[in-house]
Amino acid sequence: MSYAFTDLSQQLQYIATSGLYRSRRVIDSPQGIQLNIDGRSILNFCSNDYLGLANHPDVINAFKSGVDRYGVGSGSAHLICGHSSAHHALEEELADFTGRERALLFSTGYMANIGVISALLDKHDAVFEDRLNHASLLDGGLMSDARFKRYHHADTEHLKRHLNTANGNKLIVTDGVFSMDGDFAPLADLAKVAKAHDAWLMVDDAHGFGVLGAKGAGLAECLGLSQTDLPILMGTLGKGFGTFGAFIAGSDELIETLIQKARTYIFTTALPAAVAEATRASLKRVIADDWRREHLKQLALRFRTGAQQLGLALVNPVSANTHLETERLSAIQPIIIGESQRAVAISEQLLKAGFLVSAIRPPTVPKGSARLRVTFSALHQEQQIDQLLDAVNTAIKQIPSVAD
Ligand SMILES: *Cc1c(COP(=O)(O)O)cnc(C)c1O
Repeated sequence: MSYAFTDLSQQLQYIATSGLYRSRRVIDSPQGIQLNIDGRSILNFCSNDYLGLANHPDVINAFKSGVDRYGVGSGSAHLICGHSSAHHALEEELADFTGRERALLFSTGYMANIGVISALLDKHDAVFEDRLNHASLLDGGLMSDARFKRYHHADTEHLKRHLNTANGNKLIVTDGVFSMDGDFAPLADLAKVAKAHDAWLMVDDAHGFGVLGAKGAGLAECLGLSQTDLPILMGTLGKGFGTFGAFIAGSDELIETLIQKARTYIFTTALPAAVAEATRASLKRVIADDWRREHLKQLALRFRTGAQQLGLALVNPVSANTHLETERLSAIQPIIIGESQRAVAISEQLLKAGFLVSAIRPPTVPKGSARLRVTFSALHQEQQIDQLLDAVNTAIKQIPSVAD
């Protein structure tokens, strides 16, 4: 074996001994609250299919008839001959739903984030990111060649200090609902700061879209932020919407700029049109099924109350706005464990007990803050939350901290 591969095996060993080894579980069923894993039925608490739409009959049927009408592959990129009337209709519906002039579909959220940031900025500009932003936003910032500044989590004062020293175009970028913490960006304040500093504001609402807001249009809807307040809105379709893909919504000029310049838009095959058809069906359910959002809030509230009684370490999702607490509960409610090995051991113990809860470790989260990332689906029942809490409490007691 060549030296290069010896080196890889050493790296793999190091990853394993640090408790950071990642491996995949083979799932043998559709997404849902029950998954088949190794012949066992497991209660799922780690999916991002928050509204339970990934396996909804309307969405499945729309996908099937989309395939009958358009076939499977889209044949090319959007700018060549891959842009179908299904894609086009979905873009118009998403623009309308988010209250923006236009929307543009991307194949994934990762690509949307990289594409937008790189299209808008170059080396004369500056990008400002919350330090807990999703990897795709951080990568987009780094790839753009712009001056790259991270600010402390949700800290607008720290952000302002960075902004005061910046030149060129300025872009502030944040998760809406933070993916590994489930808390909310101070969006209303960020919009004010952006305005005062003549900066653009971009929000990635992957975990709020579909889940938050009266009609499900996300954190921007919750806070009543218009296209002027929040010019660059990104949402994903593989989470709350239960399908696949992502979009950017904003002004006509923004969207036209992305069509001309976003490399992850231009140089990739369009999503299958049938996926767009499935997403259109899912959008109808998102708008019509208020009960899914209401039920999710009840589940999160029940979990938080129970977890607090057991003394589990939660991330506080809302601090200053307690009156908004139930309005703004997200479907992500992590329990902080600290050590990576312990988080993994607890997650394994939970799997034995029949619960799938993922252990999230560095580098996805900061060092020393490994956690169980508990997520809820509108299809969970309250009594399943109680069962989960019991199981977590037992597992945590069985698996002591290495430091103790
Ligand atoms: C999942 C996620 C993405 C990536 O979206 P994909 O469509 O899965 O590529 C981007 N941003 C955040 C905050 C996410 O959680």
